[in-house]
Amino acid sequence: MTLLELVDVTASYGHVQVLDGVSLTVPDGGAVGILGANGAGKTTTLRAISGTVRTGGKITFEGRDIRGFRPDQVAALGIAHVPEGRGTLPQMSVMENLRVGAYRRKDRKGIATDIDYCLELFPQLKDRIGSRGAALSGGEQQMLAVARGFMAKPKLLLLDEASLGLAPSTAKAVYEAIRRLRAESGIAMLIVEQNATLAFSLVDTATVLETGRNALTGTSAELKGMDEIRRAYLGG
Ligand code: ATP
Repeated sequence: MTLLELVDVTASYGHVQVLDGVSLTVPDGGAVGILGANGAGKTTTLRAISGTVRTGGKITFEGRDIRGFRPDQVAALGIAHVPEGRGTLPQMSVMENLRVGAYRRKDRKGIATDIDYCLELFPQLKDRIGSRGAALSGGEQQMLAVARGFMAKPKLLLLDEASLGLAPSTAKAVYEAIRRLRAESGIAMLIVEQNATLAFSLVDTATVLETGRNALTGTSAELKGMDEIRRAYLGG
């Protein structure tokens, strides 16, 4: 079943239109990637879904029209956004960040179980549980951002450039954990990623954006086999 659908979505900052008709579908439990060069509109596509930019076109979640919803209304439907730059709260501890992620939930036992799960998924965070967000390394902050998104128990996780600024081995470890999270939780994911190798290790299908429009859409296997993708994104 379709969980999220965008049809011909446009988005503008003031008078500047940066999305010019983006369409994509995320099935229940599916993982979909958005690839593209700097400025292509990847981040704006996630913002269009989470209600932080002015949009046109059609955005439906579980069959319901959500275009124009405020960010808190979108979050209440079960969409968690892990933004570019991670969005961890620098003055709060790792534990407090995790609890903030769960602030809409009332199931105390479930929250405790999920915190344990996060610390098992990201053992580095266990050692830093009392440290402030600001004191963490880039990799640890990214792990915390993903864990905090998971703590909301979303149906859909929007993940923006989880590998940005990380050493290759750290980025790989973060993606391995995200893959495990996907397999074990069944949470659907829509991920923006410049590193196509990492993206293809996680997603089933992807779309490539060029200047605010879909340029190519296909399964990971189809896209990986295309010369233009290999040249532009896979280093050969
Ligand atoms: P990157 O990988 O560089 O983050 P992107 O594909 O995610 O690129 P967006 O961040 O969505 O691209 O940006 C799309 C276009 O919108 C760019 O031309 C960018 O300069 C512009 N833009 C982004 N945010 C704003 C903003 N807050 N105000 C005005 N223009 C913006």
